[in-house]
Amino acid sequence: MKKIRAAFQERKNTTQFQLTIWFIGLLVSAVLILSVLIIGITIAELYDSTEKQAVLLEDSLKRSEAEDEEDWEAVLTSYRTQDKSSYLIRVGLNSGAIIYSSEDAQEIYAEFPRLKQLFFLDQVLWTSEMEPYFYRSFEDGNGKVTMLVDMEDQFEVIGRIFSLTMLLTIVVIAVGSFVTYRFSKKLSGSLVVMNEEITKLESSVDEQVLTVPKTPQEVQNISRSFNQLLNRQRLSLKREQQFVTDASHELRTPLAAIRGHVNLIKRRGEKHPEVIPTSLSYIDKESKRMEILVNQLLTLGRLENFGEGERIDLSQLIQQTVDELSVMMTQELTVQIEAGIMITGQKEHFYQIARNLIENAMKYTEKNGQISIRLSSDAKQIYFAVEDSGMGIPDEAKEKVFERFYRVDQSRSSEIAGTGIGLAIVKSLVEHYNGTIQITDVQPEGTCFTVSFPPNT
Ligand code: ADP
Repeated sequence: MKKIRAAFQERKNTTQFQLTIWFIGLLVSAVLILSVLIIGITIAELYDSTEKQAVLLEDSLKRSEAEDEEDWEAVLTSYRTQDKSSYLIRVGLNSGAIIYSSEDAQEIYAEFPRLKQLFFLDQVLWTSEMEPYFYRSFEDGNGKVTMLVDMEDQFEVIGRIFSLTMLLTIVVIAVGSFVTYRFSKKLSGSLVVMNEEITKLESSVDEQVLTVPKTPQEVQNISRSFNQLLNRQRLSLKREQQFVTDASHELRTPLAAIRGHVNLIKRRGEKHPEVIPTSLSYIDKESKRMEILVNQLLTLGRLENFGEGERIDLSQLIQQTVDELSVMMTQELTVQIEAGIMITGQKEHFYQIARNLIENAMKYTEKNGQISIRLSSDAKQIYFAVEDSGMGIPDEAKEKVFERFYRVDQSRSSEIAGTGIGLAIVKSLVEHYNGTIQITDVQPEGTCFTVSFPPNT
């Protein structure tokens, strides 16, 4: 029972149910108001026309100037022959004599004191057989004339109109309810389907998306936006999963090396102490690699939270970074920095970009090679370029070097310490500032990284 009630409650809250109820409510009110108006107007019109008839009769009776019983007999007989039998007229003469127009009139007038009045139309009287009469009387010179006009025909018309409007009301309500129910079902049907599909999506493993209905437009738009959101979420989830897998993999290698050397020292350290320095240097090297990797992973993670920017003197910042790194640089360095280039953002971000690119140039260029750093601007862009005469990047790897953990030719880079994350960080940062990064070859050998920013950033 509770279940049924809960199901009904749920159904009651659906758009379909509410739309149907509201529409039926409106329809019933409109049709009822219309029916009441039609009936009211008809009653008023019929009442009015009967009253007019009575007034006309009164006038013509007054004009007849009948005085005695005989005159009245003559007048009333002429009315009866004119087929005006719906008029029941009683004339009470001052002499006390009463003239009845017909047999019917006698009967009605005998009942006269018991006739009932209609409370809102006090000139309408009802007999015990529920026959309606319009009542009117006037004083004439020699007596009182009372008229009753039979209203049965009029009330029959009213009754027929009433039945007809009631029938119409029922038909309109039945058809209207059915149409609204179907229409609202169609409207909310796509939402119901959407809900079912979303529920199924939770448990689906494949790349299922929502069906996009043709109508209504709103539901179509929601389904489209939902599918876009779903795809974005799935892509980002996949990327995150890939990132975690790659990061774990990258951390596992140095960890395994460290554990291997620790075990070696444990097993052989006492008897062969000469292994200790070599193992320690390995442990030192691998733990440093881990430290760098963890720091880079943290930087990558923090990139999601870009804070407020400030106005930075980029020329000064690049110069400071170059000064800091040039101490460790063995290559021949050329620096061309245009003074006073300003940019809006976080200092740390532009430092990361410059440092990663310059460090790479240092790492992947032979000791006596050349490195050139340039910062310039024109009306359209700010350009930062780091060029080296190093080993270069093959065309097929030019896009991939920006992926996390990607390193060109593992064997080639294996002697050079690195994690494959530096350029991924650079790219994220550059894109955050609406910039672009490009790799071009340098002749006869080498690579040039060019970062461009729109000047208003
Ligand atoms: P890492 O240098 O730690 O390996 P990066 O993301 O900075 O990681 O670079 C990715 C790869 O791109 C490097 O492993 C290297 O193979 C290649 N690369 C980056 N900079 C240069 C460069 N200036 N010259 C040649 N190859 C480069």
